[in-house]
Amino acid sequence: MGWGARVAANLDTDASEVLHVLVATDAGLGQLGKHGSLITQAYGSNVRLATVLTDLPLAVDAFADIGVDDFCMSCQICTANCPPHAISDTKQTVRGVER
Ligand code: SF4
Repeated sequence: MGWGARVAANLDTDASEVLHVLVATDAGLGQLGKHGSLITQAYGSNVRLATVLTDLPLAVDAFADIGVDDFCMSCQICTANCPPHAISDTKQTVRGVER
C-alpha cells in the first residue's frame, strides 16, 4: 500500500528494540502476568509477540482489563514453582509503581 513498515522482533537471538509486552498491553491484546509475560484472553501466555512499526494511519486500540491482576493474586502457580523464588506472592513497588 506504499506505507513504510518494518518488523521489530526478537525471533532469532538478540533482544528487540521494542518492548512487545508493553505495546501489546497498550493495544488491548492482554495484560502483564506476574511471570512477566503477556496473558491474553484467548491463549493465556501461549503467544509469541512481534511488532510491526509503520506510519500507516490506523485506528488506535486501548488497554483492556481482562482480570489478570486479580487472577494472578489468587493463582500463585508461578510463585510456587519458580526455582530461584524470584516471583513474589505479594505486590512489589518497582520504580515507583506497584506491580
Ligand atoms: S500467577 Fe498464575 S496466571 Fe499469573 S503468571 Fe503466574 S502462573 Fe500465570
